[in-house]
Amino acid sequence: MQTKLHQVVPLFHRYTSPLSVPVRMAQFILESKAGASDLFRKSYNGFGIKASPPWQGPTVLHESWEADGRKHPAFFRKYPSLEASIQDHASFFTSTPYRAQIAYRPAIEAKTYQAEAQALAGIYAGDPGYGDKLIDLIETYQLTQYNQRTTPQWQPVLIDRRDQALGGQARDRQLTDITTIVWHYTAVSRRLRRKIWDHERYWHNDRGWDRGGYHYYIDSDGTLYQNYDLERITWGVADHNQDTVHISVEAGSKADYSIEQIRTRDWITRQLMSQLALPAHQVKGHWEVNPNTQCPGYTQAEMDHFRRLLAQPLRTTPLVEDHDLVLDGKKYQVHPV
Ligand SMILES: [Zn+2]
Repeated sequence: MQTKLHQVVPLFHRYTSPLSVPVRMAQFILESKAGASDLFRKSYNGFGIKASPPWQGPTVLHESWEADGRKHPAFFRKYPSLEASIQDHASFFTSTPYRAQIAYRPAIEAKTYQAEAQALAGIYAGDPGYGDKLIDLIETYQLTQYNQRTTPQWQPVLIDRRDQALGGQARDRQLTDITTIVWHYTAVSRRLRRKIWDHERYWHNDRGWDRGGYHYYIDSDGTLYQNYDLERITWGVADHNQDTVHISVEAGSKADYSIEQIRTRDWITRQLMSQLALPAHQVKGHWEVNPNTQCPGYTQAEMDHFRRLLAQPLRTTPLVEDHDLVLDGKKYQVHPV
């Protein structure tokens, strides 16, 4: 089981520290080799903190590289979990008067992450290049995005085209009639960059429909369009439109969905679940409602996976893709929290 970088972010936010989250995360990545170091494996010590006063907890004997370029055995703090290590490290800088007022005062009072990182060099670690290494990690993994105490709520671009949608709006039903949110794809390659009005033209001209199929539509870029009020019954699933809301993505197959599209679909799905008070198990793929189609391309297991995710509250939304942690050209794994 692999833990991704963004999954440890809430732990850094849970325990406040006079040091910033990006610097603390960079220390974790550097000191523990992102959880792959021997010391971390045997003690959950993610920051290389020795068993110095006022520590009274368990310790572990470990050989570490020191400033003289040699390995020396020393006792290090031992924790029951990564979380305990992050908590102890958060308060480490103010854990004695000497640390708070002298040793780490320049880091605590620094105004930028660069100054903060440089202020740790030669003090937290003997390595004079320690600050540069932290700065490099902060920039490589864009750790400043985690600086906010609460991750800003991500939102897609939303375009309201209800006044242009094929067939217009009408009150065909009540919101309480709606029991199911249905996912679709358009079955057209994302690279063709079709738009909802292209599909409407086809529905109207070739199939004679008096209205469109989807309340919400996500284009090739992940932009969200609202086509209809939820009270409007649309032609999304043959014989099952009375009680369904339809979301469709401009994609030709399961493999064609982009990250941006999936993120937008999750966002609007959660909005609708909340607005309509529907549980995650009422989110269905088209074929689950009416089986004579492959739409939206997912298997039963994949739909179940999405429903499990939707059943969990959103914790943090990574603003960039997760990185596999790479140090010194090697890929490291962060151990389970
Ligand atoms: Zn469909």
